[in-house]
Amino acid sequence: MLHIYCPHCNEYREEEEFRPKGEAHIARPKNPEETSDEAWGDYLFFRTNPRGLHHEQWYHGAGCRKFFNVTRDTVSYEIIETYKVGESSCRHRPE
Ligand SMILES: [Zn+2]
Repeated sequence: MLHIYCPHCNEYREEEEFRPKGEAHIARPKNPEETSDEAWGDYLFFRTNPRGLHHEQWYHGAGCRKFFNVTRDTVSYEIIETYKVGESSCRHRPE
């Protein structure tokens, strides 16, 4: 059983209470009318699939029903940290 720390509830809860919602920190283009079709397509459809650290959005559906971010190692499945949306991660993916 995996336990995930919810930064809103301030406690570990069982994984069945959460749902992954995809990659975090995806910025919407500031001027959609001036954005090329290729850049708009990248924003809508293309996501990174890194080996190693990955920032993801998760949803605490059976708890506080709030979104938060998770930094997870995609190789070991280890959750490195969780933090609220709008906060910065302490861990950054190597470039
Ligand atoms: Zn929660």
